Amino acid sequence: MSHSVDLLFTNAIVLTMDGAFTQYEPGALAVQGDAILAVGAEADLRDRYTAKEIIDCGGKVLMPGLINAHTHAAMTLLRGLADDLRLDVWLLGYMMPVERTFVSPEFVDLGTRLACAEMIRSGVTCFADMYYFESDVAKAVAEAGLRAVCGQTVLKFPAPDAASYEESLAYARNFIQQWKGHPLIVPSVAPHAPYTCTEEILQTSAALAVEFDVPLLTHIAETVLEVDNSRAEHDMPVVPYVKKQNLFEAKVLAAHCVHIDEGEMHTLLHHGAGVAHNPSSNLKLASGVAPVQQMLEHGLNVGIGTDGPASNNDLDMFEEMRLAALLAKNACNDPTALPARKAVEMATRLGARALHLGEITGSLEPGKRADLILLDVVKSHNVPRFRREPEGIYAQIVYAAKASDVSDVMVNGRWVMREYQLLTLDETALASQAQVYARQIDAFLIEREQSVLSKLLAIGGAIEGESFEVQAKVRITDPDLVQAAIKGPEIEILHYRHYHEYDTYFSFADPKQGYLRHREDEFIDPNGEIANIRYRLTLLGQARERDFPGGALLSRSRFLAPANHSLRFYREYFKPSREAFVKKDRLRWRVLYHGMEFYINLDRVEQPDLGYFLETKSRTWSRTDAERKAQVTNELLTFLGASPAETVLQDYVEFVEKNKDVG
Ligand SMILES: [Zn+2]
Repeated sequence: MSHSVDLLFTNAIVLTMDGAFTQYEPGALAVQGDAILAVGAEADLRDRYTAKEIIDCGGKVLMPGLINAHTHAAMTLLRGLADDLRLDVWLLGYMMPVERTFVSPEFVDLGTRLACAEMIRSGVTCFADMYYFESDVAKAVAEAGLRAVCGQTVLKFPAPDAASYEESLAYARNFIQQWKGHPLIVPSVAPHAPYTCTEEILQTSAALAVEFDVPLLTHIAETVLEVDNSRAEHDMPVVPYVKKQNLFEAKVLAAHCVHIDEGEMHTLLHHGAGVAHNPSSNLKLASGVAPVQQMLEHGLNVGIGTDGPASNNDLDMFEEMRLAALLAKNACNDPTALPARKAVEMATRLGARALHLGEITGSLEPGKRADLILLDVVKSHNVPRFRREPEGIYAQIVYAAKASDVSDVMVNGRWVMREYQLLTLDETALASQAQVYARQIDAFLIEREQSVLSKLLAIGGAIEGESFEVQAKVRITDPDLVQAAIKGPEIEILHYRHYHEYDTYFSFADPKQGYLRHREDEFIDPNGEIANIRYRLTLLGQARERDFPGGALLSRSRFLAPANHSLRFYREYFKPSREAFVKKDRLRWRVLYHGMEFYINLDRVEQPDLGYFLETKSRTWSRTDAERKAQVTNELLTFLGASPAETVLQDYVEFVEKNKDVG
C-alpha cells in the first residue's frame, strides 16, 4: 500500500552526495514537511508513495543545496567600494571606517537580503555568516527562507554595534539565547581573528559557545604576516595559539587556514574543527594558496566559501567550486588533485559538516532537511552529456555549469525560488535601496579623501589637537660645547634620553595638507643597546613663524597617532606625492632653565649627512607666555654657545620640502 507524502520529485538526475555518492537516473525524492522522507529510483518511489504534489523535474539535476561555508553577507552593500588593495589597507583603511559610520540594523537587513537573493540564485541553501547586528542578519535570513549559522562578531576595536568587546560579548549571549532552536538559524559567536581579538575575547567566546553548544566562527592564518606576527608575539603559529586560548573546546569553523602546517592540521582534525576554503578571496588578496588537498587527505571537513562580497566580489558558489578545483591542481602541480566530485562534496556534505550541520543538511538522505536545488544541465554551454562514467556529471557541474543554471531552490521543505523566480525577496527594490547607500558612502569617502587629517582620523588612534611651541633650531659645529654647557649649574636636568630616529616624511601635492611624519624611535639604554622601539605618526601642519624677536616662535597644528601599522601600509593608504627620509642620532634633555621647562635636542643628522643641529622647544599657551619664552629661548641658545640669529627652523622645514626624493 502506498504512503502519502507532501511532495514527490520525479524525472531527475538525483545526486544524493551521500557517503557512497549514490546517483539515481531517473531518480525521485519524497518530501514530508521539512524533511526528506525517501530518495531512490523513480519507479521504486512511485510504487511506494502517492503525493499531494508531483514535481516533474524535466531531466534536471536534483542535488543538495550548496553550502557557502564563509561569508559576511551584509557586505554586499560594500561590493566594489575599494579593490586592488592589500588586506590591511583594504580592511583598516576602507572597510572598517565605512562600517563604523554606516553599518546599522537597517544596513545589515538590506545587505543580507541582497546577499540572500544572490545566494539563492547561485543554489546556496545554507551559509555561515560573520558580521555585526547579527540578530538583524538572522531575521533577514529567516525571512528570506535560507538556513544559516549566524556568527556575532567580537573584536577588540569598537565595532558598529558595540563600543567595547564586553558589549559585543553581551550582545552575542543575548543573540544566542534569543535564536537558539530556530528551525533555520543557528546562532553563534564569531571572535573575528586571533590578531583582532585579545586572549580574553578568545577564551570568553569559546566558553560562551560551549555553554550554549553552538559553533564558533573565526578567521585563522589568512596571511603570512599573521603567522609571522603570531610567531613573534606568542612564539607559536596561529592554531596552537588559539588552542591555548581553549578555542577548540568549542565547535570551531575556521575560515581560510591558508598558512597552516601539518601539525596544525592534526590539531584541527583532533578537535573536530571545520575549515572554510575561500579561493576567490585568497586569490584576490594574494593571501596565498591554502593546502586544501593536504587538509582533505588528513580527513578534515573542508567546505568552500565565497568570503564577503566586498572581497570577492560575488557570492557565486559555482565559481568557487571551480576555482577550488583549479587552484588545488596548480598548487599540487597535479591535474588529478581535487577532482570535480570532491569539489561538489566540499560545497555540499563536507561544507555542512564544517558548519557542524552535517546531521541535518548537505546531502539528500532520508531524515535530513529538504534543502535542495534543481540544475538545468541541457543549456548550450553544458551539452552534450556523457554517461559512460558516473563522475562525468560532477565535472559538468564544476567545469561547465553556472550559477544561472539553478532554476529552483528549496530550503527546509519550502520553495525560495521556483522556475527562476525568487519567492521571498524583491530584487528590484533591493537594488534601488542598495544604490541609496552607495551614493551616501561615495559622498563620505570623497569628503574624507580630501584631507590627510580626516584620513588619519578615520583609521583611529590617539589624536592631539593644535599645539603651540616656541621652537628654535640652530646648526652647530661642536656638540661637545653644548653637552658641557648643559651640565653646568645654570641648567637643571629633569630627564635625559638617547634615541636613534628614523623619520619618513610624506608630502602631498597640496602643501596645505602639511607633512605626515612616520617616526621610528629606538631608545638607546646607557649600555648603548636598543631598549625599546616606538612608532609614531605625526601630522604636521604648515609651520607659521611669528614676528617675535629672534624669530624663534613656531606654531603649528600637530596631530599624533601611534603608528600601529607598517610604513608600507601608510604609504599605500595616504598615497603621498613625495617622500623624504631622515635618520638622526638624538640626545634629548628635559631641563629647567630660568624656572622654565625646555626640551633640548642635540641631533646628528646622519642621512642625509647634514651635521649637528641644536633644537630647543617649549610648549606655550598664550601670546604673553610665548613672548617671554621666545626671549628666554634666545638666552638659552646663547648660553649653549649657539647664535639665536642663526636659527634655521624655516630652513629645516624647507629642507624636507626640497629633499623629498632623498628616501
Ligand atoms: Zn572573512
